[in-house]
Amino acid sequence: MEDCLFCKIAAGQIPSNKLYEDDRLLAFYDIDPQAPVHFLVIPKQHIASAAALTEADADLLGHVFATIASLCAKLGCDGGYRVVTNVGEDGGQSVPHLHFHVLAKRSLAWPPG
Ligand code: AMP
Ligand code: ZN
Repeated sequence: MEDCLFCKIAAGQIPSNKLYEDDRLLAFYDIDPQAPVHFLVIPKQHIASAAALTEADADLLGHVFATIASLCAKLGCDGGYRVVTNVGEDGGQSVPHLHFHVLAKRSLAWPPG
């Protein structure tokens, strides 16, 4: 999608600190980390947010979560981690391309602010 920051990152038009990439998704470190480990996982196809997901995305979502589990194991996130996807204004979404935050290596408070 034109003028979408994360589409441009997925296409390699804007650089990112890549952690993992395959034909369907990209994982890269967040530019403003909120934990010692903070990376984002995005589908390469443009999906505006989790609100736009359908049953047809089940395989993609399974792949996203399996990749997150594998990356967290590789990074040694043995104490656990949090996966967050913000949706819309009230959810705190600032980039309108589906992304999963993965935060680890510190104790995370609950509930979120
Ligand atoms: P959200 O506020 O949930 O939409 O999350 C967007 C995230 O993207 C924020 O945590 C930003 O720090 C991060 N971000 C924005 N631009 C970049 C970029 N160029 N590279 C890596 N992360 C970015
Ligand atoms: Zn996009």
